[in-house]
Amino acid sequence: MSATVIDGKGIAAEVRGAVAADVAAFHERYGRAPGLATVLVGEDPASAIYVAAKQRACLEVGIIPFDRRLPAESTFDEVTEELEELNSDRAVNAILLQLPVPAHLDGPALTAMISPDKDVDGLTPVNAGLLSLGRPGLRPCTPCGVMELLDRSGVSLAGAEAVLVGRSNLFGKPMAQLLLERNATVTICHSRTRDLRASCARADVLIAAVGRARLIEGDFVKAGAVVIDVGMNRLTPEEAQNKSGLVGDVDYAPAAERAAAITPVPGGVGPMTIAFLLRNTLQAAQYHAELEAMFAEAERRAPMSEGRGR
Ligand code: NAP
Repeated sequence: MSATVIDGKGIAAEVRGAVAADVAAFHERYGRAPGLATVLVGEDPASAIYVAAKQRACLEVGIIPFDRRLPAESTFDEVTEELEELNSDRAVNAILLQLPVPAHLDGPALTAMISPDKDVDGLTPVNAGLLSLGRPGLRPCTPCGVMELLDRSGVSLAGAEAVLVGRSNLFGKPMAQLLLERNATVTICHSRTRDLRASCARADVLIAAVGRARLIEGDFVKAGAVVIDVGMNRLTPEEAQNKSGLVGDVDYAPAAERAAAITPVPGGVGPMTIAFLLRNTLQAAQYHAELEAMFAEAERRAPMSEGRGR
């Protein structure tokens, strides 16, 4: 068997196109564009490249990007002050604190300072809690992107054996919640899993998010499975056997021999993350606009009801 390649780049372009159309409709209706603020602490070159890509992607779909940069030696209170300023800025609908932050700072504690209604990556305790309760809220971009890839590939999740490798708060745990919500039978593997090969071999849908190049070997994959590779590992172009130097957590060629469908690296999950960052920004802006309309309506009615009471 030779797998169908799931074209994340193409699907992400379609999602971005749909977001651009919805942003134009939002602008038409409310007379303003949604705004996304990125906050970068320090000068880590990889993080600076990711932030620049996010800023560019905003401009392409008509979202206003706000680019906030703080020196690497910033204190917890200084970063918090920046986040609080953005929390109260009405032009900013969504806030992304670029992770990782420098080692002396506590990334999760800083993320928790973001107002939940602007928490575009769904990482605050409020949004993580809403997701685990199955209630609406802002949901993490990469897991949402993976769900979109599965849906557009026609994968039927109800009752399917879905095996996740990786249990991070950023990806593995929210991904498991989304799969459960769609009635998959979910297994979560991690560094203490006794027999990773045996667990993976049961999977109808195998999702790897570990950060270890080619950990998932070809014979971990059940014949006919759908394989989603979230891992992004940087090697030399020679080691990676491609120009970008990027490889996933799955040993692509042998896995593609057994799988029914598989995402490549690069060009699979990566582009979906930015597409859903844009979609979540729009979702936050729509929520804010509806809330403002509700308050305006309540204010309009308030004098009337006060009058009636007298
Ligand atoms: P992370 O926080 O480092 O978590 C890695 C997970 O892998 C942990 O749960 C860890 O287990 C598990 N693990 C480590 N070694 C293992 C092994 N030998 N066998 C089984 N499980 C093992 O990483 P992350 O933030 O979730 O990211 C994972 C990968 O996805 C990285 O390559 C990252 O770059 C990539 N990523 C890509 C995107 C994208 O947009 N494409 C977005 C997010 C992440 P323990 O919990 O037991 O330590």
